[in-house]
Amino acid sequence: MMLALDLQLSSIPLAQATDKLDTLANAGLYVLITAVAVATVLSLVAIAGMWATFSKAGIAGWKSLIPIYNMVLWLQIANKPAWWLLPLLCPMVNVVFIILVSLEVAKRFGRGPGFGIGLAFLPFVFYPILAWGGSQFEDALMVASDDSEPSGADVEQLENTENLEGAEQQEEDGLEENGEEADLQRKFLVFQATPAWLVSTLVHVIILLILGLVTIADPTQIVNVLSASSSTDDGPEMEEFAIEQIDDSDLSEMEEESEPVDVSETMEITEPVEVEPMEVAAVELDVADLQSEMAPSAASLQTLASMTAQPMGSRSTDMKKKMLRDYGGTPSSEAAVTEALKWFSRHQMPNGGWTYQHDLVCKGRCKDGCDASYNKSYNAATAMALLPFLGAGQTQLSGEFRQNVKLGLFFLMKNGKQGKKNGLPVLDLRDGKGNMYSHGLAAIALCEAYAMTEDRALLPYAQASLNFIITAQCNDGGWRYSPNGSGGGDTSVVGWQLMALKSGYMGHLAVPPQTIQGSMLFLDKVQSNSGAVYGYTGPVPKFRPATSAVGLLCRMYTGWDKTHPGIVGGVEELSKHGVSKTDFYYNYYAAQVLRQYGGSEWDKFNVEMRDFLVASQAQEGGAKGSWYVKGGHTSNAGRLCITSFATMMLEVYYRHMPLYAEAAGEEDFPL
Ligand SMILES: [Zn+2]
Repeated sequence: MMLALDLQLSSIPLAQATDKLDTLANAGLYVLITAVAVATVLSLVAIAGMWATFSKAGIAGWKSLIPIYNMVLWLQIANKPAWWLLPLLCPMVNVVFIILVSLEVAKRFGRGPGFGIGLAFLPFVFYPILAWGGSQFEDALMVASDDSEPSGADVEQLENTENLEGAEQQEEDGLEENGEEADLQRKFLVFQATPAWLVSTLVHVIILLILGLVTIADPTQIVNVLSASSSTDDGPEMEEFAIEQIDDSDLSEMEEESEPVDVSETMEITEPVEVEPMEVAAVELDVADLQSEMAPSAASLQTLASMTAQPMGSRSTDMKKKMLRDYGGTPSSEAAVTEALKWFSRHQMPNGGWTYQHDLVCKGRCKDGCDASYNKSYNAATAMALLPFLGAGQTQLSGEFRQNVKLGLFFLMKNGKQGKKNGLPVLDLRDGKGNMYSHGLAAIALCEAYAMTEDRALLPYAQASLNFIITAQCNDGGWRYSPNGSGGGDTSVVGWQLMALKSGYMGHLAVPPQTIQGSMLFLDKVQSNSGAVYGYTGPVPKFRPATSAVGLLCRMYTGWDKTHPGIVGGVEELSKHGVSKTDFYYNYYAAQVLRQYGGSEWDKFNVEMRDFLVASQAQEGGAKGSWYVKGGHTSNAGRLCITSFATMMLEVYYRHMPLYAEAAGEEDFPL
């Protein structure tokens, strides 16, 4: 103040000059602040774009923040060998390589060379476009399988420890770790071998590069490009799976006569259902590797690879007849299956789904619907109805019930909620009270249908339904009602999820070995008596039929040999317990375990089961072809649920190839 006053007093021109200087200084400060702000914003935009691009390529976004390591991953996305890191670290030379890698990254996301140049020079513009625009990464889970194979004993050692630690790491980090874990280990070798000066050089190069780019940026341009990029790419049309118009007369009749609320609500969804194509990259996993991971100790376990050579081949007409005969089915058991399928087809809603309130669909022509808590479990009921069709070899493409199957699958595809979890596309099929039960069942239906037909329209849905299971695993390796339940898994929910993974695996869908290994840890947790007995959420002192049957089948699917003391002991218990007249859930699992095991235990159980089912099937009126008994685990879900289990039990002869091939009978299987 004093100074200004003095200056004013001394001479007016000087004061004017000072004013001018002040203005200039203010302007300079303003420019500086603006520049810093713009630089910060652009850096943040570039970082966010990188983060999201990494996620889109199936890599955890935060990894894009780690110096050096992010360049390694960047090279992976570009599918370039790891040694490219060296030229990337050399000043001057790196410019060329940055451009080359950027071009490749663009290509992998289906973009042209111009876009690649953009990535190299305007990362804060083009990475966001890549991340949030319509482009799709060509194979999300394949990121890890690069060409460079670091050699030497170190790698082997790391891979060994990885086997031990696999389950733990998977629990902590979720799915995105699974696919790339092996390579992560290798990349850390590179990381550790990198001298400090290299790290420092790289960091500075990156900073210089970003600063250099910042100065040529025009913020308004960025905003424009970003808003322009929000167009949605329409995926491929689903021609094969186009739904047919549903007969209107059926619909109006249905709406008039069915009063209760819930079902009529869904019944109104009868316009031609449009199922949006899902964005899922086709994923191929090395089946041979997975097999060794899944079945480490099963000497007599029939090779899964040979089973997958003809997925669900056992359900083809000729094979089915042969297996029906060889494994204990009869013409009357097969006739019972046919009647059951007719019952299901009579109870399909016009929108393609099924409901446990089947009595609303048939207008009370048969009774014994579900408890109110199951009213809204449409996905579960639909899956329970679809599985007997699929088990009998009926698909959306062939068989006299193909229209029923097609509409049912469509219902599931439409009803599932699409989303992303851990960077993976997921299809969430939980509903009603069922939650993860519903999801597991519906996933089995989608995966079985895909495995049987390899219908490309189903592929993304089937894989995404598995992805949901993979990302929903609890810390103890199990599954519970809700995803990632903090209390750990329960045997019953685990059973359905593992069956889904198994069906998907047979159809060459991607199932990370760590997920299977995790489920084995869960089984360890709930087992007793050397693995012959399984509890619900922990071990039980005495044989518990239903959970033990589930646990034993899971053990068979995850690789226990039929000579394993747990299998031998468990089979003995099941055999002693025999067929339940009320608990069809137990029967369903026990039948599969014993059928896989074979021998006199199976013969005895099968005769009792088959004759009981054939004799107890309803023969008259609207209920003809169905089953119902009170009690057990299943009567709450009503006649539809019990009929589903009973039908699948009578399909047990051909529904799955035997896991354990008899040495003498090996030629019986299509190898
Ligand atoms: Zn009915």
